[in-house]
Amino acid sequence: MNDPSPCLRLRSLARTLYRKGWMEGTAGNLSLMTEEGLYITASGCPKGSLSDLDILCIPLSESGSFLAGDRRPSAETSIHRILYRLFPETGAVLHVHTVEAALVSDLSGPELELPPLEVLKGLGIADPSTRPVLPVFENDLLVTDIAEKIGTRLPDPRYPLPALLIRHHGTTVWGRTLDDALRHLELAEFCFRVLVMKKSLDMK
Ligand SMILES: [Zn+2]
Repeated sequence: MNDPSPCLRLRSLARTLYRKGWMEGTAGNLSLMTEEGLYITASGCPKGSLSDLDILCIPLSESGSFLAGDRRPSAETSIHRILYRLFPETGAVLHVHTVEAALVSDLSGPELELPPLEVLKGLGIADPSTRPVLPVFENDLLVTDIAEKIGTRLPDPRYPLPALLIRHHGTTVWGRTLDDALRHLELAEFCFRVLVMKKSLDMK
């Protein structure tokens, strides 16, 4: 059986993440690297009901501007592009807006220390007791400025996880495959939920 098309895979994942409440409204964006180019969700489309027309194939290079009818690539395409460049093994990038990501970004400065949980092994951390940290970037109306700041801070051995946070905004993860990136997203969000619940228990 042939593999599903990149469009179908991204549409299906967007619907799954929308149902989890991680891509409410038109929030978030997903991309998948292929030999043809970078498949990415279009800007302003409801993620629970994407059609093939809402997935665009664009060049990785920013010089290749692209329009397909009235669709434009996600406003956050520059963040996807910089991550593919910084981490050349990357085959997929996922960006979502979750309640927990917004809350934990309030608990941190430029870095967020994760709890020493077993699930960190699924994010490539052999010893979770080392308490790895995630980089936290300030939100900016100019997304290209966020992308530029990502490019100045990453890669860095201080940040071994394939994930970052944008304050009061959301989570971005990457992986060699779409399945890897989804696993990274689920595990990072699990860590955020634990942090949020711990904070709320500490306050009682
Ligand atoms: Zn966003």
